[in-house]
Amino acid sequence: MDIQVLGAHNCEWQKTRLISLLIDDVLAIDAGALTSSLSLEAQQKIKALLLTHQHYDHIKDVPTIAMNLFLSGATIKVYTITPVHDALTRHLLNDELYPDFRQQPASNPTVRFTIIEPHQTEHIEGYTVLAVPVNHSVPTVGYQVTSADGQAVFYTGDTGPGLANCWRHVSPQLLIIEVTASDRYTEWAADAGHLTPGLLKQELQSFGEVNGYLPRVVVVHMNPALEEEIAAEIVALAEALGSSITLGYAGMQISL
Ligand SMILES: [Zn+2]
Ligand SMILES: [Zn+2]
Repeated sequence: MDIQVLGAHNCEWQKTRLISLLIDDVLAIDAGALTSSLSLEAQQKIKALLLTHQHYDHIKDVPTIAMNLFLSGATIKVYTITPVHDALTRHLLNDELYPDFRQQPASNPTVRFTIIEPHQTEHIEGYTVLAVPVNHSVPTVGYQVTSADGQAVFYTGDTGPGLANCWRHVSPQLLIIEVTASDRYTEWAADAGHLTPGLLKQELQSFGEVNGYLPRVVVVHMNPALEEEIAAEIVALAEALGSSITLGYAGMQISL
């Protein structure tokens, strides 16, 4: 399994892109950077898109990739939970801001939605996909994606602390987890449903207690303004836990 980090941040600047991952060129998770980072040919290769939640940094490129695929006669399957489907179709793909690509072209609509139920295994494009609820300010699921040869990645989406129940359902070799702010924002992060390096430490200890090991960890969704602080705190955390914990970045490639 080859994982590309297309975007690794929660804010878009000249050199940072919004959160988006791509597995083996065909399965994308979150749509913060699908069109800004990929050629048209690469966009056309994507067969399925999983969305964790409705916040704009995670769905920004749904209408723009749909437009590109519509114009080139390609299609994409979008898998997500009901609240995300409802928000997207109410506010973006509504024939007011963007065409309703669920209906167009009538002969072969560009976007086909499938509602995902948490804790129910789905088979998508040759992968086994499990959606697991996490703790954010709106309904949010993380996704564990397992390849045919048994390699698994779990991406949390946006989440605050308290993931012990989530950890009971996943056992990835690679954990891609959010750390939005540095430790001086711990109180804010816990309230807003985000993590800091200190809060991540507690969650990783919880993961270890539940699963008996620690996976390789890649941190994403950093606020670029806080990235230097976060990076220093993550280095200290990796040393303290004796574990591989690194910051993701746009263009990062990980092979499992
Ligand atoms: Zn969010
Ligand atoms: Zn976000």
